[in-house]
Amino acid sequence: MGNENRELQVLFFPLPANGHIIPCIDLARVFASRGIKTTVVTTPLNEPLISRTIGKANISIRVIMFPSPEQTGLPEGCQHFDSALSPDMLITFLKAMVLLRDPLEHLMQQETPDCIVADMFFPWATDSAAKFGIPRIVFHGMGYFPTCVSACLRQYKPQEKVSSYTETFVVPKLPGEITLTKMQLPQTPKHNEVFTKLLDDANASELNSFGVIANSFYELEPIYADFYRNELGRRAWHLGPVCLSKRDTDEKAQRGKEAAIDEHECLKWLDSKEPHSVVYVCFGSMTTFSDTQLKEIALGLEASGLNFIWVVKKRSNGSLEWLPEGFEERVLNQGKGLIIRGWAPQMMILDHEAVGGFVTHCGWNSALEGICAGLPMVTWPMYAEQFYNAKFLTDIVKIGVRVGVQTWIGMMGGNPVKNDAIEKAVKRIMVGDEAEEMRNRAKELSHMARRALEEGGSSYSDFNSLIEDLRSRAR
Ligand code: UDP
Repeated sequence: MGNENRELQVLFFPLPANGHIIPCIDLARVFASRGIKTTVVTTPLNEPLISRTIGKANISIRVIMFPSPEQTGLPEGCQHFDSALSPDMLITFLKAMVLLRDPLEHLMQQETPDCIVADMFFPWATDSAAKFGIPRIVFHGMGYFPTCVSACLRQYKPQEKVSSYTETFVVPKLPGEITLTKMQLPQTPKHNEVFTKLLDDANASELNSFGVIANSFYELEPIYADFYRNELGRRAWHLGPVCLSKRDTDEKAQRGKEAAIDEHECLKWLDSKEPHSVVYVCFGSMTTFSDTQLKEIALGLEASGLNFIWVVKKRSNGSLEWLPEGFEERVLNQGKGLIIRGWAPQMMILDHEAVGGFVTHCGWNSALEGICAGLPMVTWPMYAEQFYNAKFLTDIVKIGVRVGVQTWIGMMGGNPVKNDAIEKAVKRIMVGDEAEEMRNRAKELSHMARRALEEGGSSYSDFNSLIEDLRSRAR
């Protein structure tokens, strides 16, 4: 506990999307646990989610008003990515974020923080901080590897020199001969000028701000941590994995949205299974699949013969008609599998000893949570920078097996992955020597992650140097 840190106040301003809010609050918990006065700023409808995720940590919440539907063009009650249901609305939502600038600055005037940690999608926060003479730090929740890949692609544009979407190219300058195809890069959404400009501004503000906090630990990706700082010349501190900020079981169950399953029922089911016998299948907070794809997953899981927990995001009609005929009787009612329709208490599940593998869409948070739980993973990337993260898991830390998707397919799924590919990949991470080797490597990384956050560890020490930097500025 650092009494010496007491006088600093840090304000956190997360983007209202699950994959951004959750790591940002986890990060705020790291600050609070080190004795820093920690405040999170959000809008009214996001307060419950934030408060659940904060749990018992000593963090205060300050609420600023969300602009009206007349100002934003969004429907009433849309203050979170989850309620911006179409690509058009997502863009309108991102545009509306600029309107939070005045209320945030007003609050900064009242609170007089020493620093603001704002999401990458608030590039203007660097100027806001400058108005008050304080540093702005960027947080995007990612590690060094995907950030380095994005930066090199942005700078050297190898994707513009290939003749087709399927031709491979090497990411220039980046250590490790990383190859990609154009099909695997984030595709520009329809309203590309808005989004492209936002990304350009975000990139510029990363360079102009005080620095970047990476959700990573040095031992996980030393080459890329060094490359980011020394070759790309960015100022960065790695303070993660932030998901390891200490939580009891209740707090783990509360993290994020309200779970669609009773935590005790879920734990009871897991307790009844042998260690490492359950595969956890979840595609992040935003993916919805077609009925055809859901059916293929069901068949693949059934054919694997393994126990599973499968998270299926709820859709409007809520029916299970896409399940293969007889699946409920043959599989679910036999206790082989649990389907969670909606939000799952992911951290609580991943940390249970019955879980032995993770089928993931490779969002950085999920990838890191899988690493912290010491699990081999099936990589099933879909959008954003997930192909880079998948590559990291399969080719760099070597704890992942590809399910076989080759193309960035957006959040709604593309050509379905067939059940036999799913069955094969799941078995590879769960049974046999290869699975054992990957699990051992993942466990070693998980130990390293914990050590990084302990006194004297790499993330612990980077936290000290960040605080030292902030304190010397605040003096
Ligand atoms: N998550 C969860 N339950 C769910 C789905 C997601 O707790 O049912 C959490 C997950 O633990 C992670 C975050 O939501 O912390 C998702 O972030 P990620 O970067 O993996 O993916 P995104 O949702 O941003 O695509």
